[in-house]
Amino acid sequence: MGLILAKALAASGIEVDVYESKLNISEGSEKASGIISKIGLDRIGIDYKRSIVNELSGAILHSGSRKLKIKSNDTKAYVIDRGKYVEECASEAKRDGAKIHTNTRFSPNGIIKLRDKYDVIVGADGAVSTVAKAFAFPPIGSYVLTYKAEYSGADVGETDVVDLFFDNALMHNFFGWSVPYGHDILELGLGVDSAYRKNSKAVFDRFVKKPEIAEMLKSSNVISEHASMIPLEARQKTVIGNALLVGDAAGQTKATTGGGIVFGSGCASIAADSITRYLNQGIPLSRYEHAWRKKYGLEMFLHKKIHNLYSSASPARMDRIFSVVKSIGGEKFLGSYGDMDRPSIMLKRLIFRGLIGD
Ligand SMILES: Cc1cc2nc3c(=O)[nH]c(=O)nc-3n(C[C@H](O)[C@H](O)[C@H](O)COP(=O)(O)OP(=O)(O)OC[C@H]3O[C@@H](n4cnc5c(N)ncnc54)[C@H](O)[C@@H]3O)c2cc1C
Repeated sequence: MGLILAKALAASGIEVDVYESKLNISEGSEKASGIISKIGLDRIGIDYKRSIVNELSGAILHSGSRKLKIKSNDTKAYVIDRGKYVEECASEAKRDGAKIHTNTRFSPNGIIKLRDKYDVIVGADGAVSTVAKAFAFPPIGSYVLTYKAEYSGADVGETDVVDLFFDNALMHNFFGWSVPYGHDILELGLGVDSAYRKNSKAVFDRFVKKPEIAEMLKSSNVISEHASMIPLEARQKTVIGNALLVGDAAGQTKATTGGGIVFGSGCASIAADSITRYLNQGIPLSRYEHAWRKKYGLEMFLHKKIHNLYSSASPARMDRIFSVVKSIGGEKFLGSYGDMDRPSIMLKRLIFRGLIGD
């Protein structure tokens, strides 16, 4: 998010320095998946065409032996190569005038000292934000611990569909996923609520033994494996004095899936606007806090509600939810009107026109 913010600031003529701890800007990008809605990517405004790995038009939700298939006739999302995407973000930020300093890791004390050099300090430094620590921002209360791996030679099945596996006894309060990268390359991953104090790798080892997963992997080879984490809620405050937080550092993610690119980038653009107004017109930076919550607060709240619904459901309850959704035409409805980012759009359609028919 730091690079997207830097690009926007540099384009409005503001001097920006980006400090990144890694040697190469794309290092470690493969820790996260890259499923991003087509609408969301278009709105972010970074050229993503060279980063596309696969096109997705739907999802199959699994709970025990039950399935829900939500599929559109169009491409709804892309699987993006996160490394290539971050390189493109860096090159566009540089082209617009931002200076990027790699291999520079800041401690909380080092960040405090930056206050003498800069008018504004932004923490776009991820879920375990050092900037948040340095300025004593309130903590993020809820995280998901993740584990993911990529396999070659896998039995991928439909190449334009993501599979989501709900099993609260194993993946507490979250879910597992399988994402096709192509005909025989597959990503498998899962998340576990950090409150359960489970090792995500140990849970993953049990996940891949599930019969339907083992079947997909029977003649495959592991390409790489990674553990990471995702914040599931926003901090109570994201501006303190002349410091502000953006992206995972602020907790700007969708609690349903943990996706953070679309909301984080949208908030980065609001942050760029607020910083510009602060520097040019003296409008307080707290404007950022109000503006991003106004734009994304309702959607984040609805994502949290949907997350609470599936994460508190027993297998029997999930069965009932799947049956009800099927019987009232929910698969067709979600295939046509589902929006990965904005549940409010689906709710409006549901309230005003009902599920079946127009
Ligand atoms: C397994 C997994 C799957 C995911 N799948 C998706 C998905 O499909 N779609 C989606 O939209 N989102 C997904 N996400 C979430 C998404 O990856 C994040 O929301 C997004 O990367 C947040 O970007 P960010 O810039 O805020 O933080 P980060 O991507 O974490 O970047 C922070 C940067 O700050 C640097 N840094 C940290 N501390 C310091 C320091 N002290 N000094 C200098 N530099 C520092 C880090 O090196 C890093 O480059 C997934 C996440 C995970 C873990």
